[in-house]
Amino acid sequence: MRVSDPIRIAAAPFCEDHLASVLGIYTAKKATFEHMIPTDLPFEKAFAADAATRFDLTRQPKVLLVVPGLPAERAGVAPGDVVTRVHGKKLTRYVQVDSLRPKDDAEHLQLTLERGGVPIEVSVESRLGCSTPSRFMFGTNVNAFATHFGRNTGIYVFGGMLEFMESDDDLAVIMGHELAHMILKHTQQMRATQKSEADADYLGLYLAARAGFDVSEAVDVWDRMARTNPYSTIDWGYYSHPMSPARSVMLRSTVAEIAAKRASGQDLMPERASR
Ligand SMILES: [Zn+2]
Repeated sequence: MRVSDPIRIAAAPFCEDHLASVLGIYTAKKATFEHMIPTDLPFEKAFAADAATRFDLTRQPKVLLVVPGLPAERAGVAPGDVVTRVHGKKLTRYVQVDSLRPKDDAEHLQLTLERGGVPIEVSVESRLGCSTPSRFMFGTNVNAFATHFGRNTGIYVFGGMLEFMESDDDLAVIMGHELAHMILKHTQQMRATQKSEADADYLGLYLAARAGFDVSEAVDVWDRMARTNPYSTIDWGYYSHPMSPARSVMLRSTVAEIAAKRASGQDLMPERASR
């Protein structure tokens, strides 16, 4: 969330009408972990129930994490708060609190929270970002992918990827790339191509840089991934991220293009929608 939420906000100009308020919180309810069954870890059976007990989860979304510097933190939302209402209305089962649609161009979202059994009203600034949520997947694979599939639409990052990445800047390179796939609608195509990869690399680096991350190590990030995980099934199940010399050259030139714009104080806008 610390990496993906700033990128979603920075990517707003590219997401057209697929926008939502990015509050900068991660919420979970009892059912959340039932959909996160780990595939290659030994604790899968007890996991969902244990997680619900550990975090004292109910059917209402509970804030587990607040991203520093984003609207929810500034409005005083704290971990442990339970979100009960939005604009005075009770939450329905399918509402995703982390990607609410703004109401009639309102500049603030009115949230009703419950903290220690006491209701609290907070007004959270509505900062628009791409509506695509990011989700964590249990599993040791060094992997991430974007998918376009109804309510499951989103960017998925495996635990193995989070462990493998050495910094938020490194992870931002991956998250930017995956969000670029969503924006460029590659996830609605049948399969990844070299062109779709190059386009996602290009726009993705801009998205990460616009969010304030340092993308200067991008070539090294992809290179390390390719060496560690040569049969990576990153993206939608295809081995689509080989580090070819051509890809290195393109990444390097995009890094240089962004660095030059930064140095001269220019807006970090991509030169083209695709390569
Ligand atoms: Zn890709």
